[in-house]
Amino acid sequence: KATAAHPAVTTEQISETDKRHTIHPWADLATAPTTGDLVISKGEGYHVYDSDGKRYIDGIAGMWCVNIGYGNVEIAEAIAKQAQKLAYYTPFGAMTNPLSAELARVLAELTPGDLNRVQFTTSGSGAVDSAIRFVHFYFNAIGKPEKKHIISRLESYHGSSYLTASLSGKQVDRTYFHYMDDIIHHISCPNPYRREPGLSLEAYCQQLLGEFEDKINEIGADNIACFIAEPIMGSGGVLVPPTGYHKGMKALCEKYDILYILDEVVTGFGRLGHFFSAEPVWEIIPDLITCAKGITSGYQPMGAVIISDRLFDRISGDNAPEAAYFTNGYTYSGHPITCAAALKNIEIIQRDNICEHVREVGPYFIERLKTLEKYDIVGETRGNHLMACVECNISGNPVAAEDKDITAARTVDKFCDEAGLIVRPYEALLILSPPLVIDKEGIDQLVSILAQSIEQATEELKAKGLI
Ligand code: PLP
Repeated sequence: KATAAHPAVTTEQISETDKRHTIHPWADLATAPTTGDLVISKGEGYHVYDSDGKRYIDGIAGMWCVNIGYGNVEIAEAIAKQAQKLAYYTPFGAMTNPLSAELARVLAELTPGDLNRVQFTTSGSGAVDSAIRFVHFYFNAIGKPEKKHIISRLESYHGSSYLTASLSGKQVDRTYFHYMDDIIHHISCPNPYRREPGLSLEAYCQQLLGEFEDKINEIGADNIACFIAEPIMGSGGVLVPPTGYHKGMKALCEKYDILYILDEVVTGFGRLGHFFSAEPVWEIIPDLITCAKGITSGYQPMGAVIISDRLFDRISGDNAPEAAYFTNGYTYSGHPITCAAALKNIEIIQRDNICEHVREVGPYFIERLKTLEKYDIVGETRGNHLMACVECNISGNPVAAEDKDITAARTVDKFCDEAGLIVRPYEALLILSPPLVIDKEGIDQLVSILAQSIEQATEELKAKGLI
């Protein structure tokens, strides 16, 4: 038996130890004790290696997060240096550390408008949770305590804390847990591929905006605190909204005094070719932005919520209500080592022009993926820069994926795995979000493995009589 003094070394031993003791996020409890693990033990640039030395193109940047790629020595050194200098000190009350203050300043500079107030968290869930807590604190503090309701969207993903899991609208994720539902409402997500056949994109966008306004009227604007949205819904299936959607939703929020939280946990830090996509891509300045993942490129766990000065000023200083303690935050908010990783990461993204690189290779990636639409089992490929997916459709159902479409995606995934490409299967989709440092050659390899896997999957699905 492996012990701390004699750690497991072979893949079988690691897997056995892991199965005995770890509950993984999204573990299938029926199969977790028996199915084999993929043990990833090393990374370099946009590649990762398993414990048997097999190399893969990492088509998903770990979990949408390793933006600058693996094995970056500069970040490793920044982390080591800070660990030696000051590993930790409390961020509570009026205490801070130099790196936390500097990172807050940098984030204020990178976010649009007057989003200048930063609260650090240790994850994306923590960032979204803190955003909602701030919004409720704000409305209570300004004397509008009835403004509590939150509008979110079906198929959204905002995290795995009690509150953020309840905000999330992915129906397949709703299993035996309990979800808060008294103040949370889910409206339709923008999913142009699955819209009613024959409906124009403009009419579809108007339909979504209309549904939002109807929901506001149903709940009553005086009872609604905020709307929360991912710019492009990520885990829910890379759902790219129709043109004008975010602008239209923001205008409705302004009309009804509802705060707009843009959840840039996936889209932040370069994935769409900008540090934050809010203003350059969607032409909106939200009231709050949440981020995580790419903030450190996954080298340290971190999240942050960035809040408008306008909101903060209304409840602080001379405007603070009595006993205005903002009792939200974490032991590790603004952790010096994590901040050192984030600052170095941001410096690298700026110095190496990584956003410009994404703006160059991103359209090429989307264009190359489009070539896969010639295969019968592919319904659509879509995305924006380095956030994309391939949606399988063998059933021909235009409005909903069926079981055999899901089987098709899983079969493609199996062949990708064999050929050395990690993608993320979700329902009938193969989700792709490679490290931002991927070049055109890497993109060509990735798309060619996908094409070959789609051909192999087609043969297997035919042999099984599914097509
Ligand atoms: N928000 C979005 C849009 C996400 O995609 C995620 C995670 O995938 C989260 C929040 C939660 O982040 P974390 O897993 O760091 O808690």
